[in-house]
Amino acid sequence: MPDYAAILKEIAEVVRPLTAEGKVADYIPELARFSRDKFGMALYTTDGQMYTVGDAGERFSIQSISKVFTLVMTIRLVGEALFSRVGKEPSGNPFNSLVQLEYEKGIPRNPFINAGALVVTDELLSHTPDAMGDVLDFVRKISGSPTVQYDLAVAASERSNGFTNAALANFLKANHNLKNGVEEVLEAYFYHCSLAMSCEDLARAFQFLANHGVMEQGGPRLLSESQAKRLNAIMLSCGFYDEAGEFAFRVGLPGKSGVGGGIAAVLPGKWSVAVWSPAINRQGNSVAGMKALELLTTLTGESIF
Ligand code: GLN
Repeated sequence: MPDYAAILKEIAEVVRPLTAEGKVADYIPELARFSRDKFGMALYTTDGQMYTVGDAGERFSIQSISKVFTLVMTIRLVGEALFSRVGKEPSGNPFNSLVQLEYEKGIPRNPFINAGALVVTDELLSHTPDAMGDVLDFVRKISGSPTVQYDLAVAASERSNGFTNAALANFLKANHNLKNGVEEVLEAYFYHCSLAMSCEDLARAFQFLANHGVMEQGGPRLLSESQAKRLNAIMLSCGFYDEAGEFAFRVGLPGKSGVGGGIAAVLPGKWSVAVWSPAINRQGNSVAGMKALELLTTLTGESIF
C-alpha cells in the first residue's frame, strides 16, 4: 500500500506555489473573501483510514460538488427515468452555457452543468415535500458530520446575482422541462450550492462512490452497484465541464469540482479524496487542486486506468 500520509505531505509542498495562480471566484463577495493561500486535502480509504494535510478541516462553499448529492438523491427516488429529461454526454461548453440549451431544445446535456442540475433539483422537488431539509439530512448522514450547514449569506447572494441561472431556468420552463415554479427551483438550487463542507466532510461523503454504492463497509447501501458505476461514469465524462477531458488525461479519476475551489474524486475499491484551494482557472476548476490530484495518481501509481 502506498504511504498516503507521506504522499499527501509531499503534494502539499509541491502545489503550495500554485495557489498563487488562477483567480478566486468573485461573482459574489461571499466567495471572494476566501484567501487564495488555502490548501487542504483529505483521503479516506475504503478500510476507514483518513489521511489529511493542510486546511482539510476548514469548511468552504462546495458549490457544484453539491450536484452529485442531488443527483444521487434523485436517482434513488426515480431511477433512470430521470434521463428522459437530462442527458449524460459531456458538454464541452462552460457550466452555465445558454447557447447549448437553446440549441438542444431545453434538454440539458448532463446533470452537472447548471441547466442539468436545475432539472435534477426540479425532479427532487416533485418527489419530496421538504427537499432542502432532505438534502441537508442526506449530506449530514453520508458525511458523518451533523454540523454541516447551508451558508445562508452565500445562498442569498447567489439569488441576488443569479441572472444567468434564472435565464436557464426560464428557458427550461418555456421548453416544458421544469415542473415546478422557476423561483422555487432556483431557490432550492442556490441553497444546495451554498453547502459549506470541509475536505474531510467531502471525502467521507463520497466514500459510497468508492465503495460500490455502500456508505462504509457493512453500512447502508445508497445506490446499487450498477448505479454507483454509472454515477462514476457521469462524473468522469461530465464532472469538470469543458475540462473533463483534461482532468481524465491528467488525473484519471471520476470526480466533481465547484467554483469554491473544491474537488471531490474517487478511486473505486480504494479511496475517496477531496482537495480545496480557492483559486480557479477559466473553466472553474481549482488550479492547485487539479495539480494535487494529478500528483496523487502519479505518486501512488493508482488511477482507474
Ligand atoms: N452556484 C454556482 C452557479 O450556479 C455554481 C457553479 C459551479 O460551481 N461551477 O453558477
